[in-house]
Amino acid sequence: MGTLGSPKNTIDILKKHGFAIQKKFGQNFLVDSHVIEKIIRAAGITREDFVLEIGPGIGTLTQYLCEKAGKVLAVEIDKKLIPILDETLSGYDNVTIINDDILKADMASLVKEYGNNRPAKIVANLPYYITTPIIMEIFERHIPLSDITIMVQKEVADRIQAKPGSGDYGALSLAVQYYARPELVANVPPNCFIPRPKVGSAVIKLVPYGKPVYHVEDEGLLFMLVRASFNQRRKTFVNGIANFEGLKYGKDDVARALDALGIDRDVRGEALSLEQFAAIANYLSKLRIQ
Ligand code: SAM
Repeated sequence: MGTLGSPKNTIDILKKHGFAIQKKFGQNFLVDSHVIEKIIRAAGITREDFVLEIGPGIGTLTQYLCEKAGKVLAVEIDKKLIPILDETLSGYDNVTIINDDILKADMASLVKEYGNNRPAKIVANLPYYITTPIIMEIFERHIPLSDITIMVQKEVADRIQAKPGSGDYGALSLAVQYYARPELVANVPPNCFIPRPKVGSAVIKLVPYGKPVYHVEDEGLLFMLVRASFNQRRKTFVNGIANFEGLKYGKDDVARALDALGIDRDVRGEALSLEQFAAIANYLSKLRIQ
C-alpha cells in the first residue's frame, strides 16, 4: 500500500531532502506498517469518508488514508515538510495539504470547506507536546466529526480511559468521557518510530455520543468544577471549590449540594463520577440564578 512505512524508506526520504527532525514539533515518524494498518482498520475508513489528518509528517499514514478515503485534508505546521509531502503524495488526487498550526486553524471551517457536508473522521499520530489542547479544541469547538483515531502517549491513553478512584483519573478523563466513548486500539512500543520517543504510545479511538449522556445546564460551570477539584487533588471537593478563583460558591453552598445529592461531605474530586459532577453542576447553577 504505502511506500514509506519502513525505517529504510523513511531515512531515505529524509536524507534526500536534507531534512532535520524538529523535536520542538514533536516529530516521531511511524516506521511500522503493521501499526499503520491497525490505525486504518480501527478508523474504518471507506470511500464515502472525509478524513482530517493532523500532522502528516512525511506522509506515511497519509498515503494509507488516501488509498481508503474519499477525501483527505492534512494540516502540517512544519513548512519544511511541505515539499516532501508534495513528493510522497504526488500519486493521489484526493488529498489537500495545508501548512498551518492546527491550534490556530479554524478546524470547523476547514471541515465544512473540504468535507462537502460530511462529518470528519480525525486520524493522527499526534505531536505529544500538544495532545491535550488538540483533543480539547476538537471537542469544545463542536467540530462536526464521526470519530477520532489517534496515537497518543500511553500515559495519556490511560488518563483518557480512567474511571473514578484510579490514580490516572482526572480532568482529561472527565472532559473526554463527557463527549465520547474511548476504546484502546493498540499499545505501540518506541521502536515503531524514528526517532524513538522516550515513552510508550497507544492508539485510541474516541467515538462521540450523538448527544451528551448527562444533561448539563451550564457546561462551562461543569468544567470549572472539574478543573477546581483536580487542581488541588489532596483537598476535599468542598475545599477545592471554595478556594478556586473564578468560582463564587462558598463551602456552605457546596456542602448543601453534596447533602442534597446524598454524597459524603468529605469526598475528594477523584472519587466523583461524571454523573455526580454533572448533578453537582446542575444544583449549583440553580443556586446562582436565585
Ligand atoms: N503522521 C506522521 C507519522 O505518523 O509518521 C508524523 C507524526 S509526528 C508524531 C507529529 C507531526 O505533527 C509532525 O509532522 C509535526 O511537524 C506535526 N505538528 C506538530 N505540531 C503541529 C501543529 N500545531 N499543527 C499541525 N501539525 C503539527
